[in-house]
Amino acid sequence: EAKRRDHRRLGKELDLFSFHPVAPGSPFFHPKGAFIYNGLVSYMRSLYERYGYDEVITPQIFDVDLWHRSGHYENYKENIFFTEVEKRELGVKPMNCPGHTYVYGAKKRSYRELPLRYADFSRLHRFERSGVLSGLTRVRSFAQDDAHIFCTPEQIEEEVSAVLRMVNEVYQTFAFEEIRFDLSTRPDKRLGDDATWDRAESALAAALTANKIDYQMNAGDGAFYGPKIDFIVFDALRRPWQLATVQLDFMLPERFDLTYVTPHGDEARPAMIHRAILGSIERFLGVLLEHCGGNLPLWLAPVQVKILTITDA
Ligand code: ZN
Repeated sequence: EAKRRDHRRLGKELDLFSFHPVAPGSPFFHPKGAFIYNGLVSYMRSLYERYGYDEVITPQIFDVDLWHRSGHYENYKENIFFTEVEKRELGVKPMNCPGHTYVYGAKKRSYRELPLRYADFSRLHRFERSGVLSGLTRVRSFAQDDAHIFCTPEQIEEEVSAVLRMVNEVYQTFAFEEIRFDLSTRPDKRLGDDATWDRAESALAAALTANKIDYQMNAGDGAFYGPKIDFIVFDALRRPWQLATVQLDFMLPERFDLTYVTPHGDEARPAMIHRAILGSIERFLGVLLEHCGGNLPLWLAPVQVKILTITDA
C-alpha cells in the first residue's frame, strides 16, 4: 500500500514533476504539478485575507553581514549556499525571517500598527547532502507558506491562538484527522536569558490551554532563539509527518534592533512569531499525494471535470 501511494511514483504516473541530476534535490514541476502547487498557494492566500495577513516580497540573496547578524552564519552555515561577487560574500536565503525584519524596520512603528503579519512565498534553498535527498519530502529548493507576526508581548497569546485555529482549519480541509501537538522548550545551546525563555514558554503553553489542546512536552528541543509548537499529522497509513510550526522569538527583534513606540511614548521590542502551516509546499504536496493516494480533492485536481449546467425545461 505504501508503495502504491509513494508520491515519487504517483508524480511520474500523473505527470506532475520530475528530477534531474543537473539540479539535485530540486523538483521540476510539470504543468499539472504546477497547477496543484499554485492551487495550494491560492488556498493559503484566501485564508490570509480572512486572518489579516499581508504579503511581502523580499530578496533572494543577501550579504553575509545579514547572516552574521541573524546568527545563522554561526548556527546554520552548513545549510546555506554561498556565492561571491565583486569581492563580497553573499548567501542564498534558507529562510525569510531576517529579510522580514527590514520590512518592519523600514519606518518607525507605533503600538497602534501592531500586530503586523507578513506572509511570503519566496523560494528558499538549503544545502542537504545528496545522500538524504528523497522525492519532494527532502529537497534543496522549495517555498513555504511562511509568515512572521510582529506584535506586543501582550498580543502573543491571542496571535498564537489565531494560528492554532488556522492550523485546524487547514488540516480539516485536507482531511488530516489526527494531529499531535508538541511544545518544545529551551535547548542547551541557546540565545537569551532565562526570564525571556520563561515568558516565551508560558505564552505558548497558555495559548494551547486556552484552546483546550492536549500537548506533549518536548523538553530541550526548541530552536536556539525560542520555544515552538510543532504539529505532527498522521496520514492515511498512520505515518507521522511534521508540517506546521509556530515559533516564538525575542532574539531576532533584539539582533535587528526592532522597536515600536508604546502608549506611554517610550520604545519597546516587539515579539516575532515565525509560523508556517503547510510547511514546505513541496513536502506538503508529497505528503498530500500519499495521504489521498493520488485522488486529490476536486478543487486541486489538475484534470478538471466539466460541470454542465442542467436547467429544467
Ligand atoms: Zn522565520
